[in-house]
Amino acid sequence: MIIGITGGIASGKSTVSQYLKDNGFFIIDADQLSKDALTVDQTCIQQVLLQFDCSDEAGNIDRAKLGAIIFNDKKAQAQLESIVHPYVIKKMKEAIQNCKEEWLFLDIPLLYEAHLEYLCDQILVVYVEEQKQLERLRKRNALSAEEAKARIYSQMPLIEKKQKANYVIDNNGNRKELIRQVDHFIQGLKKGDILWENY
Ligand code: ATP
Repeated sequence: MIIGITGGIASGKSTVSQYLKDNGFFIIDADQLSKDALTVDQTCIQQVLLQFDCSDEAGNIDRAKLGAIIFNDKKAQAQLESIVHPYVIKKMKEAIQNCKEEWLFLDIPLLYEAHLEYLCDQILVVYVEEQKQLERLRKRNALSAEEAKARIYSQMPLIEKKQKANYVIDNNGNRKELIRQVDHFIQGLKKGDILWENY
C-alpha cells in the first residue's frame, strides 16, 4: 500500500514521517529528492545551469544564487519546477516499483498542489489550525507574522486538504498527543482496521 503524507507548511509532516521512520517504516521524502535533483543528478544540474545564471566557481549550482533568481519570479519558479518535478516523480515511481514492503510512505508537502494523488492508494493529512500553524512557523523560521502568513497563503488552504484526506492526524495538541495519534494509526495499519475516508 502506498500512503501519501501531506499537510501545510509547518503542520507537522516531518515530525510524523520521522516517527514512522523510527518505527521501521519506509518513507520517500520528496523534499530530499528535490535537493538531490540539484546536487546529485547531473542531467538536472546541467539543465538548471543552462537556464539560470547560478553557477559557483566549481561549476556546481549555487543554491543561494538560484534562490535569489527564482524569488518572487513565478515564471522562473515554473521553469525550475519543470526540471525538478519530473526527476522527483521518476524517483518516486522507481521506489514504488522496487518496494517489497507492505507499506511505503511518500512524504510530499505539495501532493495536492502538484496533483500527485494518483501515486498513492491512501492519503494522510497532518492538519493544524491556522493560528497554531502561524505560531509554529514563526517560531521555527524566525519570521514576522506577515512573512509567515505569506508562506501559508501561497499554499492550498489546509482545511481543503483535510477535506480531501483519507485519514487526518490532528496536530493542534502537544507532541505527546501527536505521537499518540500516530501510534493509533500504526496499530490500525498493522491490524488492518483503519477507517479510510473516501472522497
Ligand atoms: P515543513 O513542510 O514546513 O518543513 P512540516 O509540516 O514538516 O513543515 P514539522 O517540521 O514537523 O512540520 O513541524 C513544524 C514545527 O512545529 C517544528 O519546529 C516542530 O518541531 C514543531 N511542532 C510539530 N508538532 C508540534 C506539536 N505538536 N507541538 C509543538 N510543536 C510542534
